[in-house]
Amino acid sequence: MSNEAEIKSAGKDFIRNKIDNEIKNGLPQESIQTRFPPEPNGYLHIGHAKAICLNFGIAREYGGKCNLRFDDTNPVKESTEYVNAIEEDVRWLGFSWSGEERYTSSYFDRLYELAEELIQKGKAYVDSQSADEIHANRGTLTEPGKNSPYRERPVEENLDLFRRMKAGEFPDGAQVLRAKIDMSSPNVVMRDPVLYRIRHVHHHRTGDKWCIYPMYDYSHCISDSTEKVTHSLCSLEFDNNRELYDWVLQTLDLFPSHQTEFARLNINGTILSKRKLIQLVEQKHVSGWDDPRLPTIRGLRRRGYTPDSIREFCDRIGVSRANSMVDYSMLEFCVREHLNRISPRLMAVLNPIKITVENYPEGQVEWFEMPLNPEDESQGSRQVPFSRELLIERDDFMLEPPSKFHRLAPGREVRLRYAYYITCKDVVRDADGNVTELICEYDPLSKGGGTPDGRKVKGTLHWVSAPHAVKAEVRLYDRLFSKDDPEEGLEPGQDFTASLNPDSLTIAEAHMEPALAGFDVDSRVQFERIGYFCVDKDSTAERKVFNRVVGLKDTWAKLAAKK
Ligand code: ATP
Ligand code: MG
Repeated sequence: MSNEAEIKSAGKDFIRNKIDNEIKNGLPQESIQTRFPPEPNGYLHIGHAKAICLNFGIAREYGGKCNLRFDDTNPVKESTEYVNAIEEDVRWLGFSWSGEERYTSSYFDRLYELAEELIQKGKAYVDSQSADEIHANRGTLTEPGKNSPYRERPVEENLDLFRRMKAGEFPDGAQVLRAKIDMSSPNVVMRDPVLYRIRHVHHHRTGDKWCIYPMYDYSHCISDSTEKVTHSLCSLEFDNNRELYDWVLQTLDLFPSHQTEFARLNINGTILSKRKLIQLVEQKHVSGWDDPRLPTIRGLRRRGYTPDSIREFCDRIGVSRANSMVDYSMLEFCVREHLNRISPRLMAVLNPIKITVENYPEGQVEWFEMPLNPEDESQGSRQVPFSRELLIERDDFMLEPPSKFHRLAPGREVRLRYAYYITCKDVVRDADGNVTELICEYDPLSKGGGTPDGRKVKGTLHWVSAPHAVKAEVRLYDRLFSKDDPEEGLEPGQDFTASLNPDSLTIAEAHMEPALAGFDVDSRVQFERIGYFCVDKDSTAERKVFNRVVGLKDTWAKLAAKK
């Protein structure tokens, strides 16, 4: 983390610095073109958000454009369901792409024609070796590869075979088209990479038109170039592929797009891999793609994260070439900060103990007008009932309190938020000696939370009127994994799911002030002194469900430090 934060605080990141330089050297700012190229084989996660903020952010800042392009060259795992979800997620994050969305599959004809052109130029050939043979002849990092016996096929034979591949004359794996580069290149990627393979499968957009599909390294650079992408930003693992990217565009004399790599986002205590996320969903470790514990965009959204907080997070972590691990609490910090500014603050009690205010007239109800957010008048106010029977948090009372405990205890006086001061006079116990009720007295002169004599009370508690309390389900989420690195310390035969946190979801019941029943699905509120909550879509007219977005304070970091 510190690495990236430093780079960030020193000013712009290395990509924006590079662009600034290019502009200084004459690159017209409005020609800046980026793209976000998801493969529609899963839902987007917070790692993708980093790439989205970078690509769309750069286009926005410089007055250029950013395309959304579905990299759909691997038909087996791809579907329209994912396409639609990805579009919705990008929009929700606050970005819009230039023109219509694009698809690599729209370029299949062009990619095919350019492949024939490579063959004509003597720069590609059809290899009839099996996949195993190709693999075995590839060499290693220290040893060069071996030329394929089919490498010197004449152009006409290559063209004929390639056309027959396209026509469906061969089964899967019988032939591949390879670039003819250099089997002894120190860069293994350059050892006659495969450009096309045969796959007799249905494609979600092109149907059964094709039975040969282009490889990423071949299609990506040409798609970029076709869209006049100036800055093709991708993650660090494509570093070695850049040489091939440039080779294809130069050999075909196409618009010179350029690839720049940056470090992927890693966050501790979670996983950012579509394959593993799919596993969690399919094996029902979570309730679905939008399970609020998942780092998917829809999971974070349902949990109550705001687009602003995710963009702020991406901004803070910055962009660099150094791989690093970001602490989950950074993400929580960002949402807490945003929700602190925008969300109304109301009262709910999660683990109640009853108070009877002995000297308050039976049957009387007073309605207090309270601001929805004392730091933001524009949010307005709500009415909160006060009566003889109240609920407070059980934790806010102690029979024998230590000296630093400023909440309620026998003989102690506290303030009930915006209402009255109360003093605990007595306690009621059950047969086992557990305290079940507190008998208190209120001071009628303390109405609104202060007294004419100006005496001090140290504690201010949240509360609700028991007869008016509205019950709701509260889902208290914790980390999905109980380890920072879910892959660490596994027994043989175990996978990362063995590190799932069995306590990642606790269901509780809230007793809420009546106004809280009036919030719609997706509304985010602060339960005073507890945390930020978001109304879940499982809510019904009779019973609301609230997801805990994040607590008020960063307890995780403290716990982790203790460990
Ligand atoms: P995954 O490993 O989760 O399957 P991917 O890289 O295969 O991810 P793509 O759909 O190909 O997923 O990703 C689209 C874009 O998002 C790519 O440019 C990729 O580099 C970027 N991206 C994916 N994961 C991250 C991440 N963790 N941090 C930053 N960028 C990412
Ligand atoms: Mg990918």
